[in-house]
Amino acid sequence: MAEALSARIAARIAAEGPMPLDAFWRIAMTDPEHGYYAAGQPIGDAGDFVTAPEISQIFGELIGLWLADAWQGQGAPDGFDLVELGPGRGQLMADTLRAARMAPGFTEAMRLILADASAPLRRAQAKALANHAPRWTTTWRDALEGDGPLFLIANEFLDALPIRQWRKTAEGWREQLIAADAEGFRFAPGPVAGFPNRLADDAPEHAPEGAVLEWSAERDECIAAIAAAVAARGGAALIIDYGHAATRLGDSLQALRNGRPADPLADPGDADLTSHVDFAAVAAIAKRAGAKAYGPVDQGTFLLRLGAEARAASLSARATPEQAAGIHHAVRRLIHPLQMGSLFKAIAIAPPDAPPPAGLTP
Ligand code: SAH
Repeated sequence: MAEALSARIAARIAAEGPMPLDAFWRIAMTDPEHGYYAAGQPIGDAGDFVTAPEISQIFGELIGLWLADAWQGQGAPDGFDLVELGPGRGQLMADTLRAARMAPGFTEAMRLILADASAPLRRAQAKALANHAPRWTTTWRDALEGDGPLFLIANEFLDALPIRQWRKTAEGWREQLIAADAEGFRFAPGPVAGFPNRLADDAPEHAPEGAVLEWSAERDECIAAIAAAVAARGGAALIIDYGHAATRLGDSLQALRNGRPADPLADPGDADLTSHVDFAAVAAIAKRAGAKAYGPVDQGTFLLRLGAEARAASLSARATPEQAAGIHHAVRRLIHPLQMGSLFKAIAIAPPDAPPPAGLTP
């Protein structure tokens, strides 16, 4: 509920002064009582946004084949963790596991772990995955605690982790803090030149006035933890999200409410907040953590390489003409560059000595 959260955030700003965007974001999204994820079902036609697995079963099926192939490529280890971060309504994992059954022993060898902050979505996942006895954690950290090989998927998860922003002004770079007044919340410039050293290379001195620099400490930590776990334990991670292949400046903060863009500061807890993922940073962080990164490649390219068209043709062969048209339309939405095909990207993280995972190298 926007009022309850707004009052709490305003009280904290009154006591402590303007807060960074990531602090505001964390409260708005994950407050256990009134946060966005506590409230309901954000995903699907009736929610705020639609994701790839909700558009076509082919998305999850191809990821299931990708996982089974990576698992077999590392000797089909017994007793591995299959982790999904932010499984939404459970559709992706349901389709993934149905397809992965083609690899004998895969489902028998896995321990399924789902990490999700949303209680309503965890309930939806329990329904969708009733046959697979998953274990849940509420944080990505807890989901990475195991010891056997780690196979991990995360679709539209990293974009949901909170960011901070800095803006170039006439005086230099200043953080975009959030202040409160009678009108509501607004961005207020913080002290000059207050950004972390890690960003120094990304914040060119000669950036034009108004340029925006974004950084998510939690996203960096999450990628480093995944990469370190995969490198130490074996396995592979597949991350798909929207973003850019090269680091760049720009304001990508986005709020969606009932499928429409909304003011990100207006009603904390009522709108979904996301930002674009910097895939160059994902690859660099994975390497620093001792793993190898493959990609990013555009989602369209990735799905075509994994056989999206053949799978669509085989489903269509058993469908009515209307259904076949629906399958064609859905796959086109996932792979066409003007739809989701090039804004969304896929990257894989694997141990340096593992075979290259499918679909990410020409
Ligand atoms: N992967 C799904 C859903 C993407 S939406 C799909 O493709 O349909 C983002 C998901 O991440 C939701 O399930 C949300 O509850 C979860 N989530 C967002 N922030 C989180 C956090 N900080 N910790 C754990 N889960 C989070």
